[in-house]
Amino acid sequence: MYCRPVNGPGTQPPVTPGDAPIDWATLRAAAGAAAARAYAPYSHVHVGAAGLTAAGDLVEGSNVENASYGLTLCAECGLVSDLARRGGGRLVAVSIVAGDGDPVAPCGRCRQLLFEHGGADLLVDDGTPAPTRRLAALLPEAFGPRDLVTRRS
Ligand SMILES: [Zn+2]
Repeated sequence: MYCRPVNGPGTQPPVTPGDAPIDWATLRAAAGAAAARAYAPYSHVHVGAAGLTAAGDLVEGSNVENASYGLTLCAECGLVSDLARRGGGRLVAVSIVAGDGDPVAPCGRCRQLLFEHGGADLLVDDGTPAPTRRLAALLPEAFGPRDLVTRRS
């Protein structure tokens, strides 16, 4: 697994060359850099998310607030949009960091978004040096794409 750098302002160094363990420090730093680019004039809570795909791509997002509040997009929304924009893929690890530099847990909606693209085994940064927390712990018994196929009447 190798994280291919992205051209443009979000360019980050490789996160996982070869089959090396996930470089959480770099992933977390990418999330922190994304947090610095958030649009959060209302809450002033800047959040960035960085995800690593199985193909080694780094995807990123920042929260984008809206005067209506209800239309605010979390950083994970931007990350998933970036993933789709770059051709898709499976997320294997994600770090979500607030403007203070510390990881934060995804909100309920974003847990569902991340499940769609990373599944129950997606590693979610918990702030420890080598996170082992899986999305399944944050979203047990999740409803997913398979349910749409198996539960049709
Ligand atoms: Zn969210």
